[in-house]
Amino acid sequence: MQSLAIKQSNQITLMLDQVLGTNRFDRGPVDIANLALEYSAHTAPESPIREVLERDIPGCMGALVYGESKPRQWTIVSHKDQSEGRRAYTLGHEFGHYVLHRKLIDEDDRFDGGIYCDESSVLRREGEDIEHEADEFAANLLMPFHDFCRQISSKTVPSFDDLGTIADRYGVSLTAATLRWLEWHCQVV
Ligand SMILES: [Zn+2]
Repeated sequence: MQSLAIKQSNQITLMLDQVLGTNRFDRGPVDIANLALEYSAHTAPESPIREVLERDIPGCMGALVYGESKPRQWTIVSHKDQSEGRRAYTLGHEFGHYVLHRKLIDEDDRFDGGIYCDESSVLRREGEDIEHEADEFAANLLMPFHDFCRQISSKTVPSFDDLGTIADRYGVSLTAATLRWLEWHCQVV
């Protein structure tokens, strides 16, 4: 059964395919910052993502925070000094928390003012379930399999250059592209 993270990211992928065409990755990666602003403004106009910022948040890769007012207004923050690729994944992860977990983050006392995500939760797919779900969402949105499968074989082990080309196409780090290939390889083998 598909997880909610996969279902929700697939829906957004489908919408982007319809609006921008299924060949959209030929023109560039998903612009997560703009997508997060526009998508949230349309789907939750009373409680949208207002800003996507870069800040110094030591020890964290990213955060999804809210202000005092209700209904909540949200901000995605990425830690500065990340490469473009790392940042894209971080934004995808935080957008995933918004789509999947914002009610929980708002209501649960464990989260005070938002959720802060460290490196192990953002990229290594470790940590509690919601971290894993946000990662799944980010990977599926940034590197949807319907396009991924046309770029690289699941059967032969890709070279460093192959993975570099994939990373460039999706605007992610080499690590994220490699993890995605492994995930795909394990699904089809
Ligand atoms: Zn997180």
